[in-house]
Amino acid sequence: MQTHQYEAIIVGGGGAGLMAALYASRSVKTAVISKLYPTRSHTGAAQGGIGAALGNLEEDRPEWHAFDTVKGGDYLSDQDAALTLAEEAVSAVIELEHLGLPFDRTPDGRISQRRFGGHTSNFGDKPVRRACHAADRTGHMILQTLYQQCIKNEVTFFDEFQVVDLIRSGDAVVGVIAVNIDDGELHIFHSKAVLFATGGWGRVWEITSNAHSLTGDGNAITYRRGVPMQDMEFFQFHPTGIYKMGILITEGVRGEGGVLINDKGERFMEKYAPHIKDLASRDVVSRAIYLEIEAGRGINGQRYVYLDVTPETVNRYLAEAGEDRRITREYIETKLPDILDFCRTYLGVDPVTEPMPVQPTAHYGMGGIPTDLHGRVVVDAQRTPLPGLYAAGECACVSVHGANRLGTNSLTDLIVFGRRAGKHMAEYCQGADFVALPENPAGEIQEELERLRKADGTRKPYQIREEMRQVMMKHVSVFRTAEGMQEAVETIRRLKDEYANNLHIDDRGKRFNTDLFEAWELGCLLDIAEVTAVSALAREESRGAHSRDDFPKRNDEKWMVHTLAYRAADGGVELNHKKPVDMSLAEKDEKFKPKERVY
Ligand SMILES: Cc1cc2nc3c(=O)[nH]c(=O)nc-3n(C[C@H](O)[C@H](O)[C@H](O)COP(=O)(O)OP(=O)(O)OC[C@H]3O[C@@H](n4cnc5c(N)ncnc54)[C@H](O)[C@@H]3O)c2cc1C
Repeated sequence: MQTHQYEAIIVGGGGAGLMAALYASRSVKTAVISKLYPTRSHTGAAQGGIGAALGNLEEDRPEWHAFDTVKGGDYLSDQDAALTLAEEAVSAVIELEHLGLPFDRTPDGRISQRRFGGHTSNFGDKPVRRACHAADRTGHMILQTLYQQCIKNEVTFFDEFQVVDLIRSGDAVVGVIAVNIDDGELHIFHSKAVLFATGGWGRVWEITSNAHSLTGDGNAITYRRGVPMQDMEFFQFHPTGIYKMGILITEGVRGEGGVLINDKGERFMEKYAPHIKDLASRDVVSRAIYLEIEAGRGINGQRYVYLDVTPETVNRYLAEAGEDRRITREYIETKLPDILDFCRTYLGVDPVTEPMPVQPTAHYGMGGIPTDLHGRVVVDAQRTPLPGLYAAGECACVSVHGANRLGTNSLTDLIVFGRRAGKHMAEYCQGADFVALPENPAGEIQEELERLRKADGTRKPYQIREEMRQVMMKHVSVFRTAEGMQEAVETIRRLKDEYANNLHIDDRGKRFNTDLFEAWELGCLLDIAEVTAVSALAREESRGAHSRDDFPKRNDEKWMVHTLAYRAADGGVELNHKKPVDMSLAEKDEKFKPKERVY
């Protein structure tokens, strides 16, 4: 078994991993391990934009951005993190520009910005143009830019290596175990510090905007090694996925003036969010769509509504709102090229002349591996760091997005907190020595992989996976009840048992054994599904993306706390509700105190 030694190991080559690698590699020997070729990471699919209060088109301030983030997060966001995000977003976006990112431009050459849900000026007054973008390919451009910079900085890449375990020695984290996907060989990576940037876990649900690779590996690995998962009950459903397929239609469509329409031809968001309508935060819009569908106002009585961005409709509403702006077909073609392509290719629908059929789609995990503002993983309610372990990006929970993330704030999170984590990790490595590896660090995982490779029960991984995805979609999605979630927990536990005792995989080889990796990833998904359902069942209130029929109100008295979910000795989930939310802005300013959210 080969052993490699690097001071800093970064798991994941998406936006967060690459930004951290760029910073760490300036002073310590750094390697990135990625199961995908880095530029294939999901960050490359991000469409609409990255939020920063540059104020290029109208007045904007980081303070307003922080306010929107806290309000959008339904007051579960740690307020110190929200302020850090908003303040450092400005320099982070300018840094990306200087690294060569080809943003869309205003006529006078500044970075172009557009509207996005929940982003307002003057503490909720009116929508503001804050989303910096490169057409609808913003994430693609971020990823390409950062990858080039990492290559220039001589970061070492282990592409198509799948990390399967974390090595702990006493109190410290000393490395990871990975499999080379090409030949199936295990490798040991010995390091002073490890950073997880493994992205999301949307594949837990049946309808999702997430790529096949988003199976929450980093979260499951750290969870199994004693790190809690925080606020996992909060999973965002994006309002506009392509009907049945889940492929994302960016909120940028509504930012450019697109509207949601029901079967009666009504712009129904006027009813649910009279003030900012289609640009309310995602949890609000997803619930509205769901309620319209339940009331029989889905298109032709089906489970979808229309998203209409045809110039005719958009211009009619712009005129009604007294705005001067008008859009043309050419404008849509330049601002939303990929969206038009998706709809024309997958649906045979041309969005410049007809509306798109959409439904809510599982999109983003607000929870994850708990960290502090430096990306250090913290393992308890007192925020005690675990030496040598870092996390950033979607797999992490700073927690800046609270109970619901605003659009464009994830890309900002990757860059701001990826940068902070990379810097801190480098400093930590410079002051630390390598701690010796424990004996036979790969023993346990080797045994588990062998078990999977030889598994000859009767249930195929895809069968278990589909059952999990369906039950989570039915009972742990936009609306939830105790009864439904209980059923989900029981189903997931049965599936975990089948996974452990009755699994069957076909490919027993070593080379590119995707059958084996899919089976291993299914184990991660099942752990995450269980934590999500158990955390959701325990939280008896409605807040942000967690909306319960049986507890329809937010309960600040009891539930203004983060959930920490630990793996119990018997393999079950143990919850802790003692970690308070940081309210440092509210202590100084009335405006940041929790209020009912009105849009
Ligand atoms: C379709 C879509 C559109 C979006 N649009 C926007 C937007 O406009 N604005 C916005 O702010 N947000 C957007 N988001 C959200 C945002 O893109 C993601 O949250 C973000 O890109 C996640 O970045 P990341 O660096 O954390 O992880 P990712 O980019 O997902 O990268 C994860 C990395 O981890 C690696 N990895 C995972 N598991 C392992 C393992 N076991 N071993 C080794 N490597 C591993 C992968 O190879 C990959 O390199 C969008 C998301 C989607 C799905």
